[in-house]
Amino acid sequence: MKCPVCQRESFGKHCLEANLPALKCTGCKGIWIPAAGYWAWLESRGEHRAKAARAPAPIPMEVAGQAKLCPDCGHFLRRYKVWPDVPFYLDRCGHCTGVWFDQGEWRAIRSRDLHRQVHLFFSDMWQDDLKEKETRRRFEKVYRDRFGDEDYARIKEIRAWLEQHPQRGALIAYLSDKDPYKALSS
Ligand SMILES: [Zn+2]
Ligand SMILES: [Zn+2]
Repeated sequence: MKCPVCQRESFGKHCLEANLPALKCTGCKGIWIPAAGYWAWLESRGEHRAKAARAPAPIPMEVAGQAKLCPDCGHFLRRYKVWPDVPFYLDRCGHCTGVWFDQGEWRAIRSRDLHRQVHLFFSDMWQDDLKEKETRRRFEKVYRDRFGDEDYARIKEIRAWLEQHPQRGALIAYLSDKDPYKALSS
């Protein structure tokens, strides 16, 4: 068994959570979680396989020059982003569905309480949702840059107020009218 990152062949048994066995590379400290062990752990916690989205994997985001090989079956690992503010990609074997975590990545996932959802990260649903979140963040940044923090906060507040107002249409018309006190010319 060869580490996909540092190529050493030295793994130690590592218990990530109670009943979640994993293998830790003694060199780079990366962690390999074989799929079977992960499923067994989820099931031992009363989460059933049937509930899991098992959609076909989306087109992965490959990063050139960093191809990693599965330590179990030798197929290529594919990289996936999993959360907008998690600045790394997880590597998953498309064949045996084991997942590789570089040092610190499991901890980062766990600190967001996402560690019981690893099986969902690679579904179409999760990846689509992630893209939507990232798009929203991009827009948020565009507005913030354009309006400035203070005005952006203000316009958001006004928008939220308008959104739930029964006279929404009339209020927007009032706002956008050049002079709402002028009679319409016929
Ligand atoms: Zn290693
Ligand atoms: Zn594999």
